[in-house]
Amino acid sequence: MPGRTIKSIGVMTSGGDAPGMNAAVRAVVKTALYHGIDVFAFYQGYQGMVEGGDMIKKMSWDDVGGILHKGGTIIGTARSKEFRERNGRLRAAKNLVDRQIDNLVVIGGDGSLTGANIFREEWTSLLEELAGSGQIDREIVSKYPKLNIVGLVGSIDNDLSGTDMTIGADTALRRIAEALDAISSTAASHQRTFVVEVMGRNCGYLALMSALSSGADYVLIPERPPQVEDWAQELCDKIVANKKAGKGKSLIIVAEGAKDKYGNLIRSFQVVEELKNRIEEDARLTILGHVQRGGSPTAFDRYTSTVLGYAAVKQLIDGANEESQIIGLQNNRVKSINMVDSIKETQSIVKHIENKEFDKAIKLRGGSFKESLETFDTLSRARPNPPDESTPTLNILVMNAGTLAPGMNIAVRTAVRLGMDKGHRIFGVRNAFKGLISNDIQELDWMYVEDWTSMGGSELGTNRKQPVNSDFYKIARNLEAHNIHAMLIIGGMVAYEAAYDFIRKRSEYPAFDIPIVCLPATINNNLPGTDFSVGADTALNSIIDAVDKIKESAVASKRVFVVEVMGRYCGYLAMMSGLATGAERVYLHENGIKLQELQNDVNMFRKAFLEGKRMGLVVKSEYANSIYTTPFISALYEEDGGDIFDVRQSILGHVQQGGNPSPYDRAIATKLAANSIEFLIKKAGKGKNEVVSIGLHGGHMDYRNLEDFEKMVDLKYDRPKEQWWLGLEEILNLFGRSSA
Ligand code: ADP
Repeated sequence: MPGRTIKSIGVMTSGGDAPGMNAAVRAVVKTALYHGIDVFAFYQGYQGMVEGGDMIKKMSWDDVGGILHKGGTIIGTARSKEFRERNGRLRAAKNLVDRQIDNLVVIGGDGSLTGANIFREEWTSLLEELAGSGQIDREIVSKYPKLNIVGLVGSIDNDLSGTDMTIGADTALRRIAEALDAISSTAASHQRTFVVEVMGRNCGYLALMSALSSGADYVLIPERPPQVEDWAQELCDKIVANKKAGKGKSLIIVAEGAKDKYGNLIRSFQVVEELKNRIEEDARLTILGHVQRGGSPTAFDRYTSTVLGYAAVKQLIDGANEESQIIGLQNNRVKSINMVDSIKETQSIVKHIENKEFDKAIKLRGGSFKESLETFDTLSRARPNPPDESTPTLNILVMNAGTLAPGMNIAVRTAVRLGMDKGHRIFGVRNAFKGLISNDIQELDWMYVEDWTSMGGSELGTNRKQPVNSDFYKIARNLEAHNIHAMLIIGGMVAYEAAYDFIRKRSEYPAFDIPIVCLPATINNNLPGTDFSVGADTALNSIIDAVDKIKESAVASKRVFVVEVMGRYCGYLAMMSGLATGAERVYLHENGIKLQELQNDVNMFRKAFLEGKRMGLVVKSEYANSIYTTPFISALYEEDGGDIFDVRQSILGHVQQGGNPSPYDRAIATKLAANSIEFLIKKAGKGKNEVVSIGLHGGHMDYRNLEDFEKMVDLKYDRPKEQWWLGLEEILNLFGRSSA
């Protein structure tokens, strides 16, 4: 095994707790033990490190069993005054070397990571001091010349520069979205105005993303105060205008650190008072508070923290870095970043806000943040901007195609509003290609799509019908009849295949010679040119919610659950839900299933149950193997499990396609639709009519020319030739072991 030989690693969670911390701790402990490294947990963060004794506990494989789905952190977190003083850090250093620990994984926010870095910088001088006062032997100082630190960012605020997402932010967004969906329904019934305060400290991320994904009217954040003297008047004018335009309810999101242009805090209760005083609007205030921190982590927080925890230990083993590192996510890839640089940049944003240099603050938050703000500004308008007479009006067609994917509606809504705001006409197709063939097409209106943000399903209608033969002639006629200049198809493989057909039939039907964008929307996440498709995250969350319940049902018996999830020939849902639920095995079509393998797995379970294991879980992708079906695998397990364990199969079915879209699906649907519309407007009527797919790789977005469709897709099994997540099986199998 390459890399350094490490004796022991310490792990802790510190500062504010964040859902997903447990997944990270579990991953750190298991990865270390697997590599033969001792792991110690410091209970209550730095406080445990300072106090030592029972607060530092050597961890075993089983200590981190059954915690993946739990909110909070099982090893506790605290704020430690002592650690802020050198004296406290001196005690901490002694506790570390006493246990031969000179490698740490610190999971916390920028405060905790700052503390970690100070500790690392002082390390040798602390040991010198301990040796000087006779508390440790002098040779210990040279035995531990440096303290190696890797940080994982645990913070619901998503406020750290250098990583696209922090552990806990996705779960916080989900809790907020659940609350806002509930509030919106009562607000709509009573035609009421609600003011909702969300967390985030100096960062407006939670507020902005939840405003964007709930169809809010107004958002107040620290980074961009209203640019007017009298913010309250601007806000009230907006609410009045929206009501006039036909909005029944109004929703205003206030970040806890929201500012006016002079840098004064704007508090949510002030917003309520201003609404009352200025426009006699009797607004209701909800301060969401700690519900945002609580509850079971989302699928994303579970699998991301798992992968990051694994990578943190790998980083310590590889050990090439002189300075402290953070393991974070950039464009959906795990990245090691310099901790000091990242903290410096994070703190400089806070300084910019304090100094009222708001443009600088926004710039440092990154391109996606700025883009989301601009998109929100347009989407929350009462009416579109008046058309610019100098640019020709385009007729843009928007449709869904393929099976249902939660998030399709918000994508359509975004396309309609952004397109109309630029002065264009947007036509919607009912029932996917069936409607395009039968001319079921109508112009969509700004207010018609008002309530579509949180709705699951497809308001336009969707199905798996694919155009064939004379269908193309009819479609071409209908495109001509409506004088369509550009087209956005939001859907699954059916959409992509049809777009590819349109390219090839252009010489026959000139109506197809228009720019077309395919926006990936399918729970299966089996589309080329993108890491994520709209709907997959919601499906994953539905799966893990169901599996959590299934697991809870096995209280008294030794049992293996065989859970079948959707995905057709693509194993994405199986792999990611397996990682997020702590499955011992996943069965995917991509990797095939061999009988020998099944027998080995049963033997693995037999051994584990005999050693005290209580429950097992395997996740199978629906088309993993046509012979070794879910009933077959369950029967095989049951027979070979004998009286050691029993087996239950569960085929999850259509719950996976239902439900309100998750915040992540709403966010990517919005981002992809906004960029698609911009692309179509830019390209239409310019001669070179590209047909592209739009794709997302974390924060980074790009387009792929669909002329290359056959090069990108395995046509036999309807999935991309390259799938980024396949390599994760190694991690899943490592954690699926019953012991190191
Ligand atoms: P978060 O990590 O969530 O930002 P805090 O800022 O409260 O939370 O930091 C958590 C803990 O990290 C503190 O209680 C303290 O023990 C330690 N810490 C924070 N900043 C420093 C610092 N400058 N020096 C030493 N320790 C620090």
